[in-house]
Amino acid sequence: MNALIDTLRPNGLDPAEDVLLAWLKTTDEAAVAQLYQAAFRIKNEQSGPGIFLRGLMEISNQCQKNCLYCGIRHQNEATLRYDLPESDILALGHKAAELGYASIVLQGGERVDNKFVSKITRLLQGLKNIELKRGVDGGARKPHQAKGLGITLSLGEQTEEVYREWYEAGAHRYLLRIESSDPELYGKIHPQDKLHTYQRRIEALQSLRRVGYQVGTGVMIGLPFQTEEHLVKDLLFFKHLDIDMCGMGPYIPHHDTPLAVYADKIPSPERRLDLSIRMVALLRMLMPNINIAATTALQVLSDRGRELAIEAGANVVMPNLTDLLYRSNYDLYDGKPGASVDADLTDSPFARYLQERNIPILRGEWGDSMHYFARQRG
Ligand code: SF4
Repeated sequence: MNALIDTLRPNGLDPAEDVLLAWLKTTDEAAVAQLYQAAFRIKNEQSGPGIFLRGLMEISNQCQKNCLYCGIRHQNEATLRYDLPESDILALGHKAAELGYASIVLQGGERVDNKFVSKITRLLQGLKNIELKRGVDGGARKPHQAKGLGITLSLGEQTEEVYREWYEAGAHRYLLRIESSDPELYGKIHPQDKLHTYQRRIEALQSLRRVGYQVGTGVMIGLPFQTEEHLVKDLLFFKHLDIDMCGMGPYIPHHDTPLAVYADKIPSPERRLDLSIRMVALLRMLMPNINIAATTALQVLSDRGRELAIEAGANVVMPNLTDLLYRSNYDLYDGKPGASVDADLTDSPFARYLQERNIPILRGEWGDSMHYFARQRG
C-alpha cells in the first residue's frame, strides 16, 4: 500500500503526469481497488469517518448562457422556465433545518441583472436567520454554527463586487465548475463569444478567492473530444489552483443540446463511471483535506454511483431539497435523478448503506473544507 501511495505523492511533490495517466488507464483491478482503499483511508484521517450533508436548492433555471452541453441553456425553448419566489426558498431553508441539515447550496442558472443580485442578497440575509436544529446524530453544535445555516452558492460568473456583496450577506462557499481546464476543450463545449470565454471563468475563480470564499470547482468526465491526458491536466489544475472543494462527475448528454450529436463518440457509461471514480480517488490522494462531493450525475450511471465515490474518498453528498414540481424542469442532462431521490435520508437505501458501514451522516455540521483553514493558517 505504501508503495502505491508513494507513486502518487513522491516525497510530498506532485506526481508526474505519466503516473496519473497510468492510474487512469490501468486495467489492473487489484491495483485500482488498492487506490480506492488508500483514498478512503486518507479521507477518514483528514476529515473523519462521516459524510457532510448539503441540502441542494435549485432556485431558478433561467440562464443567460448557452453552454453546449446544458439542458437549461438559454436557447433551449423546450425548457419550462421557473424562478422560485423568495418565500418558497426561505421555506426550503426551514425544511432543511427541520431535516437536520446545517448546510445548503443555492444553485441556479447564471443571471447578472440587479433584480436577481438583490434577491440573492435578501435571501442570504433571511436564510442566515434560520435557527439550526441540534445535530440528530448526537453531534454537538459548534460555536460557528450559532451563525445559522452554512451557505454555498453556485450561481455562475459574477463581478467581484457581486461576489463580495453575497459573501458579506452570509454565503461563505462558492462552487464554479471549470468543466474542462484545457482552454481548447473548453472552447469546444462552449459557444465562441465574449460571454463564454475560458479567461472569464478563470478570472471569476480568482475573484472568489480574493473575496474570501471557500472555492470549489470541478469538471465533466467523458466529454466528446476529451482524452485521459485532459483529465490528468484537470487534476493538476485543481492542485495548482489550490481549491477547497470539488464537484466532478460523468458527462451525461442532454438530447436538446448541440453537444448531443457527439453522444456516440463518448466513452461507454461503464467507462465514464469508472473514470469518474478514479478521478475522485486520485484527487483525494493529491489533495487530502479538501471536500469532494459524491455527485448526483454518478447516480445516472449506477444506482450505487454515490456509494462508489464515497468508497473512493468523497466526503460530501448533496440531496435535493427542491420541490418535485420544479425539480423536473432543472433538467441539466438526461435521466437526472428526480422523484426517487429524497432529501430526508432517514430511511433510504443510501442511509442504510452508510449505516451498514458505520459511516455517520453528519447532520448539524457545516462541514467546511479543512483545506481552507489550513491555508488560512499558512
Ligand atoms: S451550465 Fe450553467 S451557465 Fe451554462 S447554460 Fe447551464 S446553467 Fe447556464
